[in-house]
Amino acid sequence: MPWNKKIFLATVFWAMFALSYAAICHAAGTKNIILMISDGQGIGNIMASDFYTGKKAVYESFPVKYLVTTYCDKGSYSPEPAWKSFDKNKDNPATDSAAAATAMATGVKTSQGLLGKSPDLRNAKNIVEIAESLGKSTGVVTSVQFSHATPAGMVAHSDSRKNFETIARYMIYESGLNVIMGAGHPFYDDNSEKKFWRSEYKYVGGEDAFKDLTDSDGARAKDGRVWKYIESAEDFEKMASGTENPLKLMGIARSATTLRQARSGDPQKIGSYLSTKVPTLSTMSKAALNSLSNNPDGFFLMVEGGAVDWANHSNQKARAIEEQTAFNDAVRSVLEWVEKKSGWNDTLLIVTADHETGYLWGSESNEFVLVKDKGADNLPEMFYHSRSHSNTPVPLYAKGKGSEIFKTMTDGRDAFFANLLSSFDSGFTGEYIDNTDIFRVMDAAINNDKKHI
Ligand SMILES: [Zn+2]
Repeated sequence: MPWNKKIFLATVFWAMFALSYAAICHAAGTKNIILMISDGQGIGNIMASDFYTGKKAVYESFPVKYLVTTYCDKGSYSPEPAWKSFDKNKDNPATDSAAAATAMATGVKTSQGLLGKSPDLRNAKNIVEIAESLGKSTGVVTSVQFSHATPAGMVAHSDSRKNFETIARYMIYESGLNVIMGAGHPFYDDNSEKKFWRSEYKYVGGEDAFKDLTDSDGARAKDGRVWKYIESAEDFEKMASGTENPLKLMGIARSATTLRQARSGDPQKIGSYLSTKVPTLSTMSKAALNSLSNNPDGFFLMVEGGAVDWANHSNQKARAIEEQTAFNDAVRSVLEWVEKKSGWNDTLLIVTADHETGYLWGSESNEFVLVKDKGADNLPEMFYHSRSHSNTPVPLYAKGKGSEIFKTMTDGRDAFFANLLSSFDSGFTGEYIDNTDIFRVMDAAINNDKKHI
């Protein structure tokens, strides 16, 4: 055989080998990633909700558990000094939701208020963009306005989390998102009652964007698709039941800022003034999964319980329990979907928080005492020591394909926190990762990066 023919055949052989190897590697990456974030949730919120409902949240039995450090750019966490004085974690500069969302979505530590940008204002590639480059569908679901920091931080790039209108327009028209759901309806108040004056359009991208979304021909995104728009609780239920699964689904619940937390009534009493006119976070999550799972290449979905943070800021014990319980219900719905429709060989489910809010403990005095059980249907013994964010590590629970990658990311061991938690959940060894590692795990899993697997 002449040399040039040999070289030609060898080249063809190696090209075919490389292509099939790449195809196998690509196919073996995690197909679906679901990141669920309870905003402002420390371990105290999980305990309070468990004790009030008399049952553990589903994710507490997940095989992978770590603590997560949440500090933003120029911050730090070190277990020794943190547990020496009660005020250390409370007074340490803590992250906000924008910097924390950026860390989880891009792996970049940034300054407070920035979304999808490094401290020197360069755009950082986010997990939504990575999923889309692999041909996957993407979605964000929240119990607060969809242009708020956590959902926005998954997809947008902005110098300020307060640019709601610009961020919302980017999400609707420029991003490749397939599902957007949240509160922030311009015509409704926090009790889901129709307002007759002062419509608030900024959270949905301005008056023209809202008109475009709701008119007869709908709003067309950059990808050429038209958003299917829903807002009634019945329509959310319909999408959740799976009778109709549009490829591009926008749901704005009929409520001003949150689904339920900001409503009237006594915020220290469970169920006070509860309205059924808005969907639950669980219904929204099911609707999102039905729509996203149209794509045979898989999806990335972020679900946020956004108002645990708001209840904690206002030191509302009952509302914090309601919001955490609603988040837990959403996780259960997602878990049931995975087990029925996809299985753990295809899907990675991560449940965590972006930071702790309220410095919630089980004693009124300045002591590290866990929230205390007073029996089901009774408010537990729980006391807020702050109205802002703290630097206390938050728990992370994971299950499914790629969850084993977390063990390659540990930064250290917080023996004091593990010891404190042992009476409630002995699954925490105290080993902690950083919130930027959540991005690294998702990125390695979705790309089947052999360095980590
Ligand atoms: Zn907050």
